[in-house]
Amino acid sequence: MLHINTEKCTACGVCEGSCAFGAIAVQDDCAVVNDQCRLCGACVDNCPSGALSMEVAETRQQDDLTAYHGIMVFAECRHGVLAPVVHELLGIGRKLADQRGVSLSVVVLGHELDQYAPSLIASGADTVLLAQHEALLQFREDMYAGILTRIIRERKPEVVLAGATAIGRSVIPYVATLLGTGLTADCTGLSIREEDGMLLQTRPAFGGNIMATIECPNTRPQMATVRPKVMAPAEPDPGRKGEVVQVAVTAEEAVSASEVLESVKSEADQVNIQEMEALVAGGRGLGSERGFALLRELATELNAAVAASRAAVDSGWIPYPYQVGQTGKTVSPKLYIACGISGAVQHMVGMQSSKVIVAINRDADAPIFNVATYGLVGDLYEIVPELIKQLREAKK
Ligand SMILES: Cc1cc2nc3c(=O)[nH]c(=O)nc-3n(C[C@H](O)[C@H](O)[C@H](O)COP(=O)(O)OP(=O)(O)OC[C@H]3O[C@@H](n4cnc5c(N)ncnc54)[C@H](O)[C@@H]3O)c2cc1C
Repeated sequence: MLHINTEKCTACGVCEGSCAFGAIAVQDDCAVVNDQCRLCGACVDNCPSGALSMEVAETRQQDDLTAYHGIMVFAECRHGVLAPVVHELLGIGRKLADQRGVSLSVVVLGHELDQYAPSLIASGADTVLLAQHEALLQFREDMYAGILTRIIRERKPEVVLAGATAIGRSVIPYVATLLGTGLTADCTGLSIREEDGMLLQTRPAFGGNIMATIECPNTRPQMATVRPKVMAPAEPDPGRKGEVVQVAVTAEEAVSASEVLESVKSEADQVNIQEMEALVAGGRGLGSERGFALLRELATELNAAVAASRAAVDSGWIPYPYQVGQTGKTVSPKLYIACGISGAVQHMVGMQSSKVIVAINRDADAPIFNVATYGLVGDLYEIVPELIKQLREAKK
């Protein structure tokens, strides 16, 4: 935490000017910090009287770091389907394992899983660990976390990777807490430092304004969740050979404090914008919910789905599963058409790896044009109907 030495503070106000978050201010002749503080340390570096300091919490140093070996991927399998991010995790997992000269294992929890082993091996796994039990058919985080923790304790991988999906985000922090190790959530980049083999985990921080690279030097395993669609999926090699290991699940482990009464597929889940090859996205510039009716018409012509900026979602024009960006989904379709979206960094972080980006905006200086392959400056309510018309004519 940030510590203020009231005796040294001269109330000069330099800290106020150096804080990007409005978290520190001089009140009654002394600096006072509020709950907006992100512990970035800028005020500490700038304080001319040395009145500010950071108190670092005691770190835990594990003494058997070298006992940990290999990379492990948690493969999420739900309702009989492997999450697409699994093949992306295997792609990056294989690269990290080759760089470290270690093996890559993948662990799957569920029921009747044998059918998945060949594709996991083809995507780069050396060992497939199948923890099978009827109770694991339905995801319940306490049960999954307990079994996964036990497997990690037994196999001692140095790195554990999982998807930053709803399941990954709920079970992996649970596992990291049980293991007493660190976790970097929502990584967009992973690499190995040559000198010491440390996993370098990169993710956007401070509202996407900086990319932070995080290390976990004192405990093992090093754990990270990875945003779907950020890493390239592994190129499958059907000729690869690997080992399949059945991991026994005991009756005591196959219990949960929660009971699933029914699984209901929400309407919003039916379109996964991350799986689409083309997206037509709308932002605040649409002006109202009705703008999405126009975008849907364009999407239909292109065999695309609609997507949105957070401003459009926050306005209640479209549900959250359609949101693209830092706090929404990361997408990389072949075609991304941004209509009435300014191009805030938090939006662009979620779509800038799209192959072709078309931006429609009436402000020629909108930042979205910096990443656009094609930019159309003008009113979207004139340009989009014209596009629809021309597409329909071309189809005739
Ligand atoms: C921590 C954090 C996380 C965030 N996460 C996300 C996220 O995941 N996704 C996200 O999108 N945002 C996110 N944001 C919000 C982000 O900063 C922006 O506020 C948001 O992206 C703006 O949305 P917009 O571009 O639709 O709206 P605006 O910035 O208001 O832009 C609207 C644009 O429409 C144009 N326009 C208006 N009328 C027309 C018209 N008739 N024809 C053509 N163009 C027109 C305007 O010129 C303008 O450029 C986040 C912010 C924070 C702080």
